[in-house]
Amino acid sequence: MARTLKEIADFTPEVAAAQLRHARVHRVPMAVAAPVPGTERRRLPQRTTVPGLWLAGDWTRTGLPCSMESATRAGLLAAEGVLADRGTAARLALPVPETAGLIGLLRRRRPGRD
Ligand SMILES: Cc1cc2nc3c(=O)[nH]c(=O)nc-3n(C[C@H](O)[C@H](O)[C@H](O)COP(=O)(O)OP(=O)(O)OC[C@H]3O[C@@H](n4cnc5c(N)ncnc54)[C@H](O)[C@@H]3O)c2cc1C
Repeated sequence: MARTLKEIADFTPEVAAAQLRHARVHRVPMAVAAPVPGTERRRLPQRTTVPGLWLAGDWTRTGLPCSMESATRAGLLAAEGVLADRGTAARLALPVPETAGLIGLLRRRRPGRD
């Protein structure tokens, strides 16, 4: 719990002075979808073939695993597309971080594969 509080305080310094009244740890083993080989290719882009219809959601093609970060990035990418169609170039979504570790090594050796 102390480590979690410290982590939150990194972003919200006021937390360091707060008094924790109640806490409970929840472990949800299946909270995030587990992709299988080929999943990445099946994720749809935010732009559809229907004019004015945009997709956003963690499951769309964001370059991130299905998560809150992916859902947010999908919305920002869709917003970028809407703006671009209106003639406004805007970069709203942050770039996808470089994949690290073993998976990053494999990805760099076989670019374009998922
Ligand atoms: C138990 C659990 C724990 C999780 N923990 C984490 C975590 O710690 N970190 C993390 O990054 N991710 C976590 N996730 C995953 C995260 O919640 C999702 O990746 C994220 O919420 C997806 O956002 P979204 O906007 O794509 O979809 P959602 O958040 O699912 O939003 C879709 C919305 O559309 C609504 N909807 C569906 N059908 C219709 C309809 N026909 N008409 C109108 N509205 C409709 C739904 O009610 C819902 O509100 C967790 C998921 C679960 C289930």
